Amino acid sequence: MEIKEIRVFKMNLALNESFSISFKTYTQAQNVLVIIETDEGIEGYGEGSPDKSITGDSQEEALSFLRVVAKRLVGKPVDIDLIHENLKTIESNLGFKSQTGKAAIDMACYDIIGKKLEKPVYRILGLAKPNLVPTSLTIGIKTLEETVRSARKYMEAFEKNGLKRIKLKLSGNPEEDIRRVMKLSEVFPGEITLDANQGYKNPEVAVKVFNKLYKSIGSRILFVEEPCPKGDLAMMKYVNDNSPIPVIADESVTSIEDAEKVIRQKSASGINIKLQKSGGIYYASIIAKLAGEKGFKLMVGCNEETHLAISASVNFVAGTPYISSADLDSDILLNLNITNENPVDSFKEGCRVPAEKPGLGVRIADWLKAIINGQIFLAPMA
Ligand SMILES: [Mg+2]
Repeated sequence: MEIKEIRVFKMNLALNESFSISFKTYTQAQNVLVIIETDEGIEGYGEGSPDKSITGDSQEEALSFLRVVAKRLVGKPVDIDLIHENLKTIESNLGFKSQTGKAAIDMACYDIIGKKLEKPVYRILGLAKPNLVPTSLTIGIKTLEETVRSARKYMEAFEKNGLKRIKLKLSGNPEEDIRRVMKLSEVFPGEITLDANQGYKNPEVAVKVFNKLYKSIGSRILFVEEPCPKGDLAMMKYVNDNSPIPVIADESVTSIEDAEKVIRQKSASGINIKLQKSGGIYYASIIAKLAGEKGFKLMVGCNEETHLAISASVNFVAGTPYISSADLDSDILLNLNITNENPVDSFKEGCRVPAEKPGLGVRIADWLKAIINGQIFLAPMA
């Protein structure tokens, strides 16, 4: 089976509410959509969600990478190893990397392979029964009152989905963070995870904050992601070694090489793998194996991704041993959907559950198909 055509689209989608982390506020997803068609008439879908400070590539870079890929991969067999070899060559010719461009192509190829074999992607990855792990729903940086309101809203809206875990974004302001975490723990009886997104410039302050929180709340706080500036592994190790709350490396681990460094230096207790950082399921599987075999905690997170890319991550988690935690919520919370499926339907008993359907198990929404096939003409604004 060969690639007949690759179509690439710029896809900007407004979020239903703005979302703040320690170093930025998001109001829209600036993503890319890829549709690959094969000579057997099978269509595969992929999505890239670039974010320069996290994935290393911008939307424009992902698009210019994919425009070249769209030309060069035509006529090539849909073979994952071979495709990634080609993508690597294209990157080195271009002189820049696009992790999210690779991720989009990777997902679309897995989607095609799954459809061809009539199996969900998680089974292609090697598990007969899905590995189901709890997912968190995230609360961004907000005032104390808004944090409480969001927690109550999640508890009410997702009680039937078995919500058991909330992730709170930290600002790096110790008093504010402690107040918000303590308040959340009063309002929400379940498990809590934290994400500082590099907010703590001083690791000793971070250690003090986490010790204090642990003393009051204990092991209900499962872990904290990326407390200190990205890439400073010595700082991260100091916090991990001195905090009763385990540290998970996120922004500091994009590539396999980054993961190897963290594993070797034991800079963290775990790694947050994202398909958008690693360059797709292919590389994410390698990182999971390397870190999982060494006993590192593994979670899978997301960027501002629609239900399409999230379905790829849900399949990746379901098909990969070692992964014990997920933070796959952008399609549900930010109302990002370009498929005919309802994201909330795959949130069951606190976990994201893959569809027992071939490939990624999602279909591009009819309204989007109409737009990209040019059947809907949007008149320019007067
Ligand atoms: Mg994170």
